[in-house]
Amino acid sequence: MSSDVIPATQATSSSWLASVGTAAGWAWDGLKVTGSVINDIGANTTRNTVCTTATVAGGVMGGWSGSAIGGAVGTLICPGIGTAVGSFLGGASAAVVAGKATIVVTDRILDDMNYDIETVSCEKCGRGFRLKMYKEGREKLCYRCK
Ligand SMILES: [Zn+2]
Repeated sequence: MSSDVIPATQATSSSWLASVGTAAGWAWDGLKVTGSVINDIGANTTRNTVCTTATVAGGVMGGWSGSAIGGAVGTLICPGIGTAVGSFLGGASAAVVAGKATIVVTDRILDDMNYDIETVSCEKCGRGFRLKMYKEGREKLCYRCK
């Protein structure tokens, strides 16, 4: 039997396992996005939402490619269960790595755009300072006077 022909029963069980992993990931990502929206409403910004959504998108894309690579490697080692385990582990680890990389890149881009960063003059010393509203909320004093 050729190794690239996977019996239907095994193919079904591996895609089922991968779907459970994907669904769990989506539920977790949904919670993260919801949490960011709540934080943003409190701070009156949208940056956390933008950043988390981008991170989730990056993680999902990374997860998909990682899952495909992991599945392919797993299939080489042991078709069926190897495909399932490979795509699960590959998807999960690639999603984490891609998500972290996306946080760094997104944060950098949003900083360059001054997204939800305002130049405010300090109430105490009068000097202007860059306020990261999404992180610090409505500060009135600069970092020197706090
Ligand atoms: Zn000051």
